[in-house]
Amino acid sequence: MSSLDASLVSVWEKDHDGATSDNAILLLKMFTDAGSPESLSIGERDRLVTDIRKALFGSKIKGFDTCPKCKVDLVFDIDLNDLDFRSSSEKFICYDEGVRAEMRTVTSQDILDLKGMDTARRCEALLQKCLISVNGNTSADISNISPNHSSKIQDMIEERDSNSLIHANQVCASCGNNWSVVLDIVSLLVEDINVYVNQRLSEVCQLAKLSGWTETEILAMTDKKREFYLEQMNE
Ligand SMILES: [Zn+2]
Repeated sequence: MSSLDASLVSVWEKDHDGATSDNAILLLKMFTDAGSPESLSIGERDRLVTDIRKALFGSKIKGFDTCPKCKVDLVFDIDLNDLDFRSSSEKFICYDEGVRAEMRTVTSQDILDLKGMDTARRCEALLQKCLISVNGNTSADISNISPNHSSKIQDMIEERDSNSLIHANQVCASCGNNWSVVLDIVSLLVEDINVYVNQRLSEVCQLAKLSGWTETEILAMTDKKREFYLEQMNE
């Protein structure tokens, strides 16, 4: 088995049941040299996962969505090279009544740490995690910030989260409506890998059944040789 195939099978085996944050870290550890992918912002994470998708399967993908205006189901081609990456800085400032809160962007590790929490506790814990300082005090607690100020910060975090997602602009051929489709690049890539590995292992099953060769022997063959045997045996 080539080292690439071995890596793809490993992702397939370890797939975290579609959990985006866990799967993103799995992909980044497997296919990049990003030292600690958990600490990357969501925007940076998705940018790197997009590069992995392009390197493994190319830049073209099929998209599916429903036109928000006329409700027609659409299938469209997306070229990842044309995507709009809206980058935002790692830190931001939120003022309220003379109080200056310095915040950082949300990371994969933050999301993993807060998994399973109820919404109210999760919001407060996320604010605390992303709080760098209040009026320069780096040991400040989020409880020292007024509810109005916290609400403003929450809105800024949500806006930045939304901006960091991957958007692809679409036009409906039926009604001419324009809108922006949000792509979950992590799930798309994991699905591509699952399809590829299922196909490859299905070939192994067919050849093993017909020839008695072992999985190791079959996967060690070149693609050309494996395809040749499959054609011969299926005739
Ligand atoms: Zn439409």
